[in-house]
Amino acid sequence: MAPKSYSLETELVFNKSSDQYNASVAPLYQSATFKQPSLSNMGEYDYTRSGNPTRTYLQNHMARIMKANYTFAVTSGMGCLDVITRLLKPGDEVIAGDDLYGGTNRLLNYLNSKGDLKVHHYDTTNTELIKSKISSSTKMIFLESPTNPLIKVVDVKAIADYAHQVNPNVVVVFDNTMMSPILMTPLDLGVDIQYESATKYLNGHHDLMAGIIAVRDSKLAEQVYYVINSTGCGLSPFDSWLLSRGLRTLAIRIERQQANCIKIAEFLQSIGFKVRYPGIKSHPQYHLHQSMCKGSGAVLSFETGSIKTSEKIVENTDIFGIAVSFGCVNSLISMPCKMSHASIDAKTREERDFPEDLIRLCIGIENIDDLINDLTKALLKSGAVKINEKDELFSVVGVEAKL
Ligand SMILES: *Cc1c(COP(=O)(O)O)cnc(C)c1O
Repeated sequence: MAPKSYSLETELVFNKSSDQYNASVAPLYQSATFKQPSLSNMGEYDYTRSGNPTRTYLQNHMARIMKANYTFAVTSGMGCLDVITRLLKPGDEVIAGDDLYGGTNRLLNYLNSKGDLKVHHYDTTNTELIKSKISSSTKMIFLESPTNPLIKVVDVKAIADYAHQVNPNVVVVFDNTMMSPILMTPLDLGVDIQYESATKYLNGHHDLMAGIIAVRDSKLAEQVYYVINSTGCGLSPFDSWLLSRGLRTLAIRIERQQANCIKIAEFLQSIGFKVRYPGIKSHPQYHLHQSMCKGSGAVLSFETGSIKTSEKIVENTDIFGIAVSFGCVNSLISMPCKMSHASIDAKTREERDFPEDLIRLCIGIENIDDLINDLTKALLKSGAVKINEKDELFSVVGVEAKL
């Protein structure tokens, strides 16, 4: 007898086709409308805003991968957050991390400034602090772990369990973009809604934008679907089809990207940089992270002690492209303060101990020696690293990163 579900690696590529021609790849229904069998019989699909077989195929596949009962594919990761915040009522109190994705911060601040929501930002690595702030008027909690680029880790289960004790109706929302379903299953840790930017690892090729919302509760699923159908942010058939293709290689991509990332973290640490990566033992929340996840992902950051030096490093790599985002098969380098996190104003960044010289590396599937050689070249050119008489690299800055 076949098991109910296979391991994730198998589920990613396993496909029991129900297609009339037994196509090995789910067909693309590039159609906005569907004819009704008769005036009185609606048929399964009528209009692609409400539903499309290619999107359904993707969503059913995602539900198995994310261990959810329902998933919804929308046009971006931020689109997920827009849908989720629409479940709230005017003036509702929400708690959010103080190191969330820049775009998340921007949307929550916008809603806060208009008085739509009352948003309170706290350091979610401090579980006791968060517990003390959760009350019966807390309606939603926004968490992300590990955050990037500061790589802060959140005790998801402790916070979700406590919040549900205080208010059984609270909705705990978790952004799992950094880990992907291969490394973390937040729904198992007690969160109510999990979402991910599929622009990153899920698709893995930076050729589309998408977001996935995953829930287990049927009432929440109904509300989420209502908003998606009403606002028309469901993912297009073609992007759903492309995402289904990218998804099949998720496990093998992450395996390689993570293996490369561990080697680069060790390389940077060995020459004297303080590296932020949840996969190295010096990370203050190493054990907490490992207790929640099956790996550490492929994003790390490090400081150089000088904005100018960081700029020179970023501008002197060749393989590492200067680009925002992560999760793609090719490696990227960025300075978050000037790029992905520029939407957080300088004063707030300072309050949150956000180093302006921080460099973020998002590691791809290239040959590891090529990557390390490329980084070495840039580090030497920037003057951040020198070679001693034994031909060894050493960092001349040796700053202590505030972790
Ligand atoms: C990129 C990202 C988002 C937003 O997703 P988009 O698809 O770019 O809208 C949200 N959260 C995290 C952690 C991200 O990295």
